[in-house]
Amino acid sequence: MTNLDRYAVFGDPINHSKSPFIHHHFAEQTGQKLHYSAQQVSAEQFTTQLNDFFKQGGKGINCTVPLKEIACQAVDHLTHRAQHAKAVNTIIQQTDGSLLGDNTDGVGLVLDLTQNHQVSLRAGNILILGAGGATRGILAPLLARTPQQIVIANRTPSKAQQLALEFAHTVPIIGCGFSEIPGQKFDLILNATSASLSNQLPPLPDGLLNSQTTCYDLAYSNKATPFVLWSQQFTDKSLDGLGMLIEQAAEAFYLWRGIRPETQPIIEALANDRL
Ligand code: NDP
Repeated sequence: MTNLDRYAVFGDPINHSKSPFIHHHFAEQTGQKLHYSAQQVSAEQFTTQLNDFFKQGGKGINCTVPLKEIACQAVDHLTHRAQHAKAVNTIIQQTDGSLLGDNTDGVGLVLDLTQNHQVSLRAGNILILGAGGATRGILAPLLARTPQQIVIANRTPSKAQQLALEFAHTVPIIGCGFSEIPGQKFDLILNATSASLSNQLPPLPDGLLNSQTTCYDLAYSNKATPFVLWSQQFTDKSLDGLGMLIEQAAEAFYLWRGIRPETQPIIEALANDRL
């Protein structure tokens, strides 16, 4: 077994994960000595594997589908953002040995939009498609940027309505089905459904966007997702979730190692890989 500090991403499936590549790049860039692996872990195996990992000296874990909600129950403490998200994607072992669950997805999205792509969220009119774990994770960081309004549209409308009720304290939020999306042009449309993973596009009404609208698919793929292809008909501001993946990883790396890596070099390296 390696003497290096050990980290891992747990998930199922996990074989296409870019996280080991990203974290090894961050380690090299910042002169940190660590090893990061991807481990196939099912929901049933999660608690045992998590405890074994830390008993054997592991330092930190990332969780991805389908483990983020279960991870909330498996840790000793939650940060505020993990409490809001009801999902954990980063686990940090504290000095007393207890496990702290955090969620870096929302901050990852906001950093990618605002710093890497200069998208202003303040006073913006935002449409979020989907009401699952990712939407839960991004709502609080988006609201902190004081948009004008957020509409959440979901295949199961009641889940969108529930999120609207839970989060609408400072900014008006509407929850609805796809066919009930208010007829207006949005400044930003976020696809937080998992439709792209099965090569599908949510059933969207006409007239939601113009050439000024930024469209962002949280999913990422080596080829354009159905949502990115759809949005490219109307706007040249079409993005996918690769930058979010890298920014959430940088935040996790910072929590573990106390040093913030630069993200631009790896964003460029992975973007070039797709050309
Ligand atoms: P969940 O399983 O929690 O939620 C899935 C959501 O997608 C639900 O709202 C579901 O609707 C909806 N949905 C699923 N299939 C369809 C479809 N065919 N048409 C319309 N709606 C559909 O997933 P997550 O919220 O965890 O993840 C959502 C997406 O975000 C995924 O693509 C994931 O890869 C991406 N993601 C990217 C990250 C990054 O770093 N770039 C980080 C986190 C997530 P219903 O409620 O009706 O079932």
